[in-house]
Amino acid sequence: MIILKHADDIGIQLKKIKAATSSIGFVPTMGALHKGHISLLQKSKEVCEITICSIFINPTQFNNADDFKKYPVTLEQDIYALEKNGCDILFLPDVNEIYPGETISKNHFNLGYLETILEGKYRPGHFQGVCQVVSRLLKIVAPTHLFIGQKDYQQCMVIKRLIELEGLNIELIICPTLREENGLAMSSRNLRLDEQQREEAAEIYKTLLGMQQKIKPGSLHHLKKEATEYLIKKNFNPDYIEIAEAGNLNPVNEWDGTAHLVALAAAFIGDVRLIDNILLKH
Ligand code: AMP
Repeated sequence: MIILKHADDIGIQLKKIKAATSSIGFVPTMGALHKGHISLLQKSKEVCEITICSIFINPTQFNNADDFKKYPVTLEQDIYALEKNGCDILFLPDVNEIYPGETISKNHFNLGYLETILEGKYRPGHFQGVCQVVSRLLKIVAPTHLFIGQKDYQQCMVIKRLIELEGLNIELIICPTLREENGLAMSSRNLRLDEQQREEAAEIYKTLLGMQQKIKPGSLHHLKKEATEYLIKKNFNPDYIEIAEAGNLNPVNEWDGTAHLVALAAAFIGDVRLIDNILLKH
């Protein structure tokens, strides 16, 4: 695996590679890698001739300074895991490489209502930050395929919109959520949970599974309320439990029994905020 820190070096390296290959897969991450990240790398290796991963903790997507400060860093283990799993190039930029002269951080992306609902509502500015970093990374890496996780459902929609907005010819591949044995969605932030919290955190997924089992056509008000109350009883502090149309994330209060739905949750356990989602009917 080649490790590159400068955007220019990526360009030079890619020029050589591009002459010889037709597909470049890209897996952007913020590090503290787990099996979920590695599953994206593996998918990319299945589909593409060359796979590039990046590790960059993007400051502009953190609406909470403390969350940014406490974001886990496990660089040595990450490099080992990427190497072991056959990553071809690791792009490891510092902040000046991504935001030279701070010009890029001023870009604004027209995300419409996607920016103000669910995660957007509770993390103002978050998706602008995601677009800033992904837009810059896509310009540097210029991949043919981009691999991202369904775990961040709304982010998938935002990145799809970004690709449209920028008119990029990139195939977006959304990969399934990898979970711990107890159902907890794997996440870098899980490193901040103690053993007991890690057990308790699985309740988020159990709640979503319960909604999947109980959903019936008609009003969904009671189902959402019951799920929220359940998590509160289990000592979570939920930001939202929502049911939305799977294709556009419009909240659904009355279900006709046919529309494809996704249930999404965001909740704090202690001071760690976790998100998860599950497709209900598809
Ligand atoms: P992050 O490092 O959290 O920014 O995540 C990098 C990529 O990995 C994103 O596309 C995430 O959606 C994806 N990802 C995070 N957790 C999981 C998981 N449990 N299973 C599959 N993909 C994941």
